[in-house]
Amino acid sequence: MNSALNNNTIVAIATAIQGEGALGVIRLSGENSITIANKVFKGKDLTNQESHTIHYGFIIEDRNIIDEVIVSIFKAPRSYTTEDSIEISCHGSMYIQEQIVALLIKKGAKLANPGEFTLRAFLNGRINLSQAEAVADLISSKSESAKKIALNQLRGGFTNELSELRNQLIHYASMVELELDFAEEDVDFANKEELKKLIIKLNNKIEPLMASFKLGNAIKNGINVAIVGKPNAGKSSLLNTLLNEERAIVSDIAGTTRDTIEEILNINGILFRFIDTAGLRETIDTIEKIGVEKAFEQIDKSSVYLYLFDLENTKLSEVEQELETLNSDIPRILLANKIDLVTEKKLKEFEDSKFKFLFVSAKNKKSIDILKQNLYNKVIDKDISINDTIVSNIRHYKALKETNKALLDTLEGIELDISGDLLAQSIRIALTELGNITGEIDIDQDILGTIFSKFCIGK
Ligand code: GDP
Repeated sequence: MNSALNNNTIVAIATAIQGEGALGVIRLSGENSITIANKVFKGKDLTNQESHTIHYGFIIEDRNIIDEVIVSIFKAPRSYTTEDSIEISCHGSMYIQEQIVALLIKKGAKLANPGEFTLRAFLNGRINLSQAEAVADLISSKSESAKKIALNQLRGGFTNELSELRNQLIHYASMVELELDFAEEDVDFANKEELKKLIIKLNNKIEPLMASFKLGNAIKNGINVAIVGKPNAGKSSLLNTLLNEERAIVSDIAGTTRDTIEEILNINGILFRFIDTAGLRETIDTIEKIGVEKAFEQIDKSSVYLYLFDLENTKLSEVEQELETLNSDIPRILLANKIDLVTEKKLKEFEDSKFKFLFVSAKNKKSIDILKQNLYNKVIDKDISINDTIVSNIRHYKALKETNKALLDTLEGIELDISGDLLAQSIRIALTELGNITGEIDIDQDILGTIFSKFCIGK
């Protein structure tokens, strides 16, 4: 156990801070949790109880009852943090919970920092760093797939396997370094063929993980989708149809959607965040103009965008011209809207364009399911599935990329028969980067600070 933590018993409300629930849970962790809780508890003597038992009683301050509670005891090392821990289940009132926390602080506990319980679980070796991060992801997960990835990561995910291969690499690193000590005698401790095989094996694990990040990131953070088009093209109607509700304002007056509206749609487990923008029409109206600039800005900020036009009132040449000016590096879907209002002849003309349009009716919900499927396919690679091991954490992705690079350098070094110290150096980079993911090496305090500050207090 990390001795620096020993004297410090921390306390925080573990349940939601906002809103009112039937119950609230206050958590204590640290060497003195049981004695501190015992000082305010009227019921059995908590210091004489077995681990994993629960006890009914009252929280008392100066003989006044604060609340009727249930206290659970978790003795080291069988607790979330591996330290002695107490959970007090009280009534959900924020006032009561705060009173109890204040009382426990008075009796010697310290208010926990955000993520401090999980930080302790990590520092005490119960979970590795990527598992600790998974805890934060799990708490904030907003879809089934995000939850699935976080849970998989919490159970060890890809890190167990990488850890094992990393240990093998450490063995070779020490062999290569040993050779350096015997440089003059020209001995080979490290079997270069074996080392090559190991590196290839590692990279075969790492590369699919790197490839999975696009999906992982999409699942975790959602996909930004801008909807752009001239006023009256049907952007708000489309958004309403997609979301199946009347959120955005639909109107016949050109340019009514002046500000941006954000709405979220779940397509096959991916959250698409729609941004409905003001029309693309050139205008002298200043408010409208801000909206138009925003539309261009939104395209640049989006991962995919929908370009929408009114098929009835727009010439093909006009659309083609406008499309040439819009960013085509970002995946886009071109929607010819109001298909219910046009003739076969007009349709045919647009079908023959060099641009590929999807013909829809926002108002009559025509081809909306095809649009959703297209949208999903635009951003998600077909050959990767939610059931594969997926990396969703950018810190892990970057470390994997650096590891991969260092391993390729090592491989090239072996081929070119470069000097042992250069070889040792690139292996060391790979080891450090891999170790960064799980926290097997000494992690910079700043990095730890950043990771754990994203947690809520009480976790
Ligand atoms: P926005 O300015 O681009 O947001 O356009 P709106 O969604 O406000 O739509 C402008 C007008 O076009 C409204 O009267 C809508 O009812 C109408 N509209 C939108 N989509 C369709 C469609 O597919 N068919 C028909 N007939 N009218 C539509």
